Amino acid sequence: MEKKGYWDAHCHLHLFDCTAGDLNELGAHDETGFFLGGYAPDDFLHQEELKKNWPSFTWLTSVGLHPWWLQDLWDQQGQVNFEANLQQAMILLETYLPQANALGECGVDRARQSGLPLDLQLDLLRRQIDLAAEMKKPLVLHVVRAHSQVLKCLSGQKLPDPRGLVHAFNGSYEIGKAYIDKGFFLSIGPSVLKPGYQKLKQALSRLPWDRLLLETDSQLKGDAVSQGWGNHRPKYDASTRVRLRAVADVVGQLCDVEPARLLASSQQHLQDLLQAQDCDA
Ligand SMILES: [Zn+2]
Repeated sequence: MEKKGYWDAHCHLHLFDCTAGDLNELGAHDETGFFLGGYAPDDFLHQEELKKNWPSFTWLTSVGLHPWWLQDLWDQQGQVNFEANLQQAMILLETYLPQANALGECGVDRARQSGLPLDLQLDLLRRQIDLAAEMKKPLVLHVVRAHSQVLKCLSGQKLPDPRGLVHAFNGSYEIGKAYIDKGFFLSIGPSVLKPGYQKLKQALSRLPWDRLLLETDSQLKGDAVSQGWGNHRPKYDASTRVRLRAVADVVGQLCDVEPARLLASSQQHLQDLLQAQDCDA
């Protein structure tokens, strides 16, 4: 029997004001499961809201301190207030984590201009990894221009079991293989649809396709988040959403696998990784 829906391995629908029409539109494109990437600890409540309001979809949740959020906190609050805010955030993180499917996003981003020192970013990542290992929650890693530092950090840590995923993976074959060897999945997003990204495209032709997940990453925008979300969520804009099937088509071509098979494999891995139920079943 033909499968009814597909799961997006990483998106941020909870940061938007989604209407019934928006959700129906997603369903009409066979997108029925969404793994939400946590940005700040209190956005977990928005994730729970989606779960409660739209039970016909599968909602997978995560809570974590996103590197952008930490960078903005540092830049806006200064070092002294950063510590106080961080303490509060860690308390919220520990409070919500037992109910979430995973810890994340967490990681290191060196592409952004921020005063937050790299060593401190790595230290904050270590603290979150420790918590994930202790609470047995898989990780959602956000890593930009910092793979060697993060891989080194992962080698020195007790890691959760199951490990988790590297979202929006854009790296080379060697880097991808290093994460896979550590037990992580690589989640591939809309970068494959863009011109360039040759390193990633070449890597996909060599990496084991059954360690890949598929995501839209829609639609976190740097300028919007830096203004702070609070309770004021922007309107969801369906016209800018990348379709999961489009990502699957291109990744399928690069890996020489049927897109439907990739989508099914990605969903099965998410289900196992996050101990999730399939609402479609
Ligand atoms: Zn994200």
